[in-house]
Amino acid sequence: MNTTLQDCRARDAQDPLRALRELFHIPNNTVYLDGNSLGAMPRSAPARVADVVTREWGADLIQSWNTNGWFQMPGKVGDKIARLIGAAPGTVVATDSTSVNLFKVLSAAFHLASADKPGRKRIVSERSNFPTDLYIAEALCKERGFELQLVEPEEIATALTPDVAVLMLTHVNYRTGAMHDMPAVTATAHQAGALMLWDLAHSAGAVPVDLTAADADYAVGCGYKYLNGGPGAPAFVWVHPRHADRFWQPLAGWWGHATPFEFTPDYRPAAGITRYQCGTQPMISLAALECGVDTVLAADALGGMAALRRKSLALTDLFIALVHERCDGHGLGLATPLDHAQRGSQVCLTKDEGAYAIVQALIARGVIGDFRAGDDQRHKDILRFGFTPLYIGFEDVWHAVEHLRQVLQSGEWQRPEFNTKHAVT
Ligand SMILES: *Cc1c(COP(=O)(O)O)cnc(C)c1O
Repeated sequence: MNTTLQDCRARDAQDPLRALRELFHIPNNTVYLDGNSLGAMPRSAPARVADVVTREWGADLIQSWNTNGWFQMPGKVGDKIARLIGAAPGTVVATDSTSVNLFKVLSAAFHLASADKPGRKRIVSERSNFPTDLYIAEALCKERGFELQLVEPEEIATALTPDVAVLMLTHVNYRTGAMHDMPAVTATAHQAGALMLWDLAHSAGAVPVDLTAADADYAVGCGYKYLNGGPGAPAFVWVHPRHADRFWQPLAGWWGHATPFEFTPDYRPAAGITRYQCGTQPMISLAALECGVDTVLAADALGGMAALRRKSLALTDLFIALVHERCDGHGLGLATPLDHAQRGSQVCLTKDEGAYAIVQALIARGVIGDFRAGDDQRHKDILRFGFTPLYIGFEDVWHAVEHLRQVLQSGEWQRPEFNTKHAVT
């Protein structure tokens, strides 16, 4: 029997996480399915940011580094993120961007590999990894005389030959929403003698992650996606404690120094993850990020990440089922795995023609997803829909698919205004 709008409303009424939606400002008549790209704004953020600006900066001025806890903010927010990714307290800092943090941990991993296993000069990653990860790796390989090898997911195990220093993967693929088995892949990398580096950009706050149980070596992740930290929010970085003190990372700024206010001419790294900080950190952005992370931690009282995960899978299952029931015959394909164990918190549809314009027509109707360009038959153009269980409900899913059905049926996506590309897709 087909799903109805009433069914969806009934599921919202029974949803124990429903109240969390009130933590966010969601514009009227909007179904926001792009929280995997820029999380919605927490209602607490404007007042908190205003307080940091007017009271902490305006009134308390430079004393705020001490009296308002500014100096400790990267570690304080890092500890909150640590709870979401299976990391011990004191092993995560919220700092810099994902790209910059990746540069730091990859540099450290190259140092470690060169010291312990000098013959290993290759790094393996996925061809469809997020481009900035690949660009950073490519540039660093050039600097250090390493080689970057890009493979398809099913080729990873065989690519792990004895010359591989690092396996660098993104846990949930940004294009397809496909999720790696973190413990199994990490074990495979270690059996092959390689270090394991995970990018959690589409995982932190979206799916349960346990870096400690998986015994990973390095991880980075993003603050402005499922952590709802705001545009350009600081990212985070984790290094397994067994490695953290072994090497400096090359961006050895004074915030990573053991005693920055002794102003010594020589560098002495702080112990542990603190050495992964570089320069002075953005307090206004860190305050907004803390508001965002707190929205995810607010689910703790309602079952935490496990409950969020259950709802996320229910939402993506519903979306897939409704697209199947209501949008058949329009040439849509599904790029996201049906297997729950292999699915993140997004659903990606493929269409050979018009994917960008369909997304634009949906946005004009208030259904906000995004488009990601493909480059061949295996990596096709994608219509991408992120489902943040904190603020997306089952009725939202219904309306999103109904708009998609109308856009396809009417052919309105063929109108010229939906076919002009913007700078940011
Ligand atoms: C979003 C994302 C990034 C973003 O990196 P920035 O440095 O914040 O621009 C990096 N890697 C992955 C896998 C992402 O999904």
